[in-house]
Amino acid sequence: MSETHKFQAEVSQLLKLVINSLYSNKEIFLRELISNASDAIDRLRFRSIREPELIGDGTPFEIRLLPDPKAGTLTIEDTGVGMTHDELIQNLGTIAHSGTRAFLERIQSGEKPNLIGQFGVGFYSAYLVADRVDVISRAAGETKAFRWSSDARESFTIEEAQRVERGTSVVLHLRAEHRKFLDDWELRDLVRRYSDYVSHPIKLRVSTGEQSGKFEVINKASALWQRPPKEVTQAQYDEFYRHLTHDFEGPLTQTHFQVEGTLLFSGILFLPKKAPFDLFHAQGRRGIHLFVKRVFILEDCDELLPPWLRFVRGVIDSDDLPLNVSREMLQDSSIIRTIRKQVIKKTLDLLEDLAKEQPGSYATFWDQFGAVLKEGIATDGEYRDRIAELARFASTHGTELTSLADYVSRMPEGQKDIYYAIGDSKESVASSPYLEALRKRGYEVLLLSDPIDEWAVDALRSYKDKKLVSAMRTDLKLDEQSNEEKKKQEGAVAPLCDRIKTFLKDKVVDVRPSERLTDSPVCLVIPQGAHHAPMEQLLRASGRNLGATRRILEVNPTHPLIQSLQRLNEQEPSSEKLREWVETLYDQAVLMEGGRIEDPNRFARRVTHLLQEVAAGVGR
Ligand code: ADP
Ligand code: MG
Repeated sequence: MSETHKFQAEVSQLLKLVINSLYSNKEIFLRELISNASDAIDRLRFRSIREPELIGDGTPFEIRLLPDPKAGTLTIEDTGVGMTHDELIQNLGTIAHSGTRAFLERIQSGEKPNLIGQFGVGFYSAYLVADRVDVISRAAGETKAFRWSSDARESFTIEEAQRVERGTSVVLHLRAEHRKFLDDWELRDLVRRYSDYVSHPIKLRVSTGEQSGKFEVINKASALWQRPPKEVTQAQYDEFYRHLTHDFEGPLTQTHFQVEGTLLFSGILFLPKKAPFDLFHAQGRRGIHLFVKRVFILEDCDELLPPWLRFVRGVIDSDDLPLNVSREMLQDSSIIRTIRKQVIKKTLDLLEDLAKEQPGSYATFWDQFGAVLKEGIATDGEYRDRIAELARFASTHGTELTSLADYVSRMPEGQKDIYYAIGDSKESVASSPYLEALRKRGYEVLLLSDPIDEWAVDALRSYKDKKLVSAMRTDLKLDEQSNEEKKKQEGAVAPLCDRIKTFLKDKVVDVRPSERLTDSPVCLVIPQGAHHAPMEQLLRASGRNLGATRRILEVNPTHPLIQSLQRLNEQEPSSEKLREWVETLYDQAVLMEGGRIEDPNRFARRVTHLLQEVAAGVGR
């Protein structure tokens, strides 16, 4: 008896999308179906560690391609775990993957379908070449088999079927124009191009010529990471990476190693080209595939990576772990700890090489993942200094990002510290008043605008004995002026500072003459222990109660506006006008620091009012 089920709405949508956006890439259906077959064998092999009876009948692990030119069908067959009646409905009738679901939501919200690159298109790619697909499957350990069948319009049917072995056969009824996928040479070529990494044998049942009817193994059938790196081509790495990650694009680069010694393990670690959309989600997909003695154990094993390398993908295959290793065992396994150390070392080596030999690719990497790597500076003392060498920052030196080493190499004589300023964006920091005095002295300033930056520089403190100093903090010392001249200016502006303090007593902790300003009348500086504005906003947004964080207002004694206010203060000490000026300047300073002013409307009214007075003067 056959039952009919409707596809989940999202499936129909995904099907349309796959067919419309991949029409020029039809041949990928084969690698997707072989990839599923390989996964199914891996899963069965893993389960059979605890349930050896599942493979007791001796059926070999293999994938078969059966072209049938007479019937116009191509069958992809595997001896993997198979699917039960309910699994067929669940896996091939709904979208279970949270990633695919999120992807569809983003498409609906108007993003471009080329995002499809971030998700495996999977089983439904069969409909790129077939107008009907039958899936006959018998789950390992079961006696009954079922046939799933659909023309991919709205529904599929399920009925009982015959299958002697465990596993799955996917029968593609090829559309007339896609009969070339029945050709032996075409299939050999596609497998060589897209599926050579598969570690299980892929057997082609030859359909023409003398060998017709015979099976021929058409891939190398050994795990890619076990082969000597010299014998693996970039195209093979690319395909393997796609299989592992469902990324549509190839990786940026990879490192392939075989470690021998007290521990025996091998692996391939990849850097993706693009950050996945869930890089900063707590439940994002991450980690490395773990194999034990060539047997697939675990997808997304994050015990092998520190959080600041969560973008690294790949495989590790250990000969020392027991096959029946569990998640709990991984958490306090000394073998895992040793491998993790090596994974970190290999990744940092890879990044250092890339930075040195391919600065262009490194810039791409940094753009996508720099913010994550910088978390390591903030949180991981053991690797802090190595990561600091890899870090790149915007600076006043030019449009390109700079390393700390390059910054130091440009430091003029007399400059002792490394300076930085923090704000919302590189542009706003670059034009901030805090940089004025440093600029004048010819000192370069790092322009930081990533929320993680403040954590990172605070944790790093210094680089090669050069202190990292914020241009916005109170501890900036630039004594160069002769003390006498300084004293004189400070003395002159002192009464005004005292006056301003009475106006702003609820807003600032102190008002004092400034050394760092040349062109601006005032600025706010950050007292010891307080955060820069972007970090403060981040902490507030995450629900932290910071209380009122008050700044120090610095006043530029040489600025004409300040000098005018000084005179106004001497002539009319009780003037309301002075208060108006001071409060407006204060609000302006808050804006320049990248903060939010309390009452933007009042600020605007005051500015208008002051401008009006000036305009009246101009028009007279
Ligand atoms: P993905 O491979 O990313 O999970 P697919 O669309 O390729 O997505 O496949 C959907 C699901 O169908 C798989 O997760 C798996 O559970 C099941 N499946 C597909 N092909 C097979 C197969 N040959 N054997 C067993 N299960 C399969
Ligand atoms: Mg798949």
